[in-house]
Amino acid sequence: MKNIPAPVRVAGLAAAILSTSSVFALQAPTAAELAQQGDDPAWEITEGLTTEIGPRPAGSDREAAARKWAVAKLKAMGFANVREEPYQMPVWQRGEEKAWLTAPFVPQSLTITALGNSGATSPAGLESEVAYFSGFDALAAAPDSAVKGKIVFIDNQMEPTQDGSGYGLYGRGRFVGPNVAAKKGAAAIVIRSIGTDDHRNPHAGVTNFEDGVTPIPAGAISNPDADQLVRQWQRIRAGGTKGPLKLKLLLTPEAIGERTSGNVIAEVPGRDADASPVIVACHLDSWDLGTGAIDDAAGCGIVAAAARHVMSAGQPRRTIRILWAGAEEVGVFGGKAYFDAHGKEKHAVALESDFGADRVWRVQFKLPESAADLEKRVSAAVAPFGVVTGHDEAHGGADVGALVEAGTPAVDLGQDGTRYFDVHHTPDDTLDKVDPAQLRQNVTVWAATLAILANSSDSELP
Ligand code: ZN
Ligand code: ZN
Repeated sequence: MKNIPAPVRVAGLAAAILSTSSVFALQAPTAAELAQQGDDPAWEITEGLTTEIGPRPAGSDREAAARKWAVAKLKAMGFANVREEPYQMPVWQRGEEKAWLTAPFVPQSLTITALGNSGATSPAGLESEVAYFSGFDALAAAPDSAVKGKIVFIDNQMEPTQDGSGYGLYGRGRFVGPNVAAKKGAAAIVIRSIGTDDHRNPHAGVTNFEDGVTPIPAGAISNPDADQLVRQWQRIRAGGTKGPLKLKLLLTPEAIGERTSGNVIAEVPGRDADASPVIVACHLDSWDLGTGAIDDAAGCGIVAAAARHVMSAGQPRRTIRILWAGAEEVGVFGGKAYFDAHGKEKHAVALESDFGADRVWRVQFKLPESAADLEKRVSAAVAPFGVVTGHDEAHGGADVGALVEAGTPAVDLGQDGTRYFDVHHTPDDTLDKVDPAQLRQNVTVWAATLAILANSSDSELP
């Protein structure tokens, strides 16, 4: 969607009228007005990170370069207490990755990418019969004998949804499918990519094996390649073609041990030193196939730009703490490190932007009862930008997940996810997929929300 709806164009006036927190707002521009009129730091950050650094795999030199870039950028934007907070994490590194359908027809190659934490085949590769499953539940229900020594294939065509809810359902094939297949004795596993596009791009992503389970080779093939595999399997199943269906895999990733990763933190100091801060998060690392524009350079741009607009509109009552987390993609190591270091500090409320750059369409809350009026003010402030109020509980996001689980209130500014999984974790996650107009709508909504939260009273958010 290229066109921002009409309400955005009248939103400057609406935001001024709706900004009931002070008379001052009617004289000076509000954070939301600044976000609409001013420079474009969210775009600058998204363009800068993707152009000057590119892919930012967790624990790599590239991620370290991104941290250095981030510190310089956040200082230049005028934030205080800008710093790196390093931690150690286990690093998995991609190797060679190839796949072929070898029988019953003439061999042909498929596009594949190894899943994070995948085991390796031998350097000569691994060839075996395919055990087909329509989805994760079918694999979970299968007897060990159905998969032992075979290459498990999980079909499972993800459908696009505005709220991205399909990711949890279809994603199980990737999140836990390999662990289940390994425990049943499979030689390897290949999944249809967790993605909604029809490009010949596999979608990367992490998987996890339980302690004591030896990782098996695990990869994702593109949607068109999965269609091809399924057509061959159907011919055998229909009885006209003699099986079995066979795959050959060459995957040579390795676990290279502990490396340094880190979080980058910056602040807008609040007027009231005793008030608990508002935390806004994104993640700085990305998968290596694309340049991590929508996941999650745009998110880092959105949260920093919104904080800057609030700062420019006048010092907020509460400190705004910006967390550009490291190593989210491979297991939320940055979020865990932040919680280990700061989990005992009180946070007023947590928010995260990690769902691309398309427009915000819904706000949801997880706030104490004392914040009922605050919720109404936020809903009213974002409504002119086409944002509806949802009634499910906010969860914050991966990097603030531990804080929220421990009781920190949360607000979710839900972005339109209809096209997010077309490019998510693929070589296509590049800057041209970011629509500057939709990115600006995000920043405006975030700035309006953050201005209210950062000026909330202790009786509303203790
Ligand atoms: Zn992300
Ligand atoms: Zn991601």
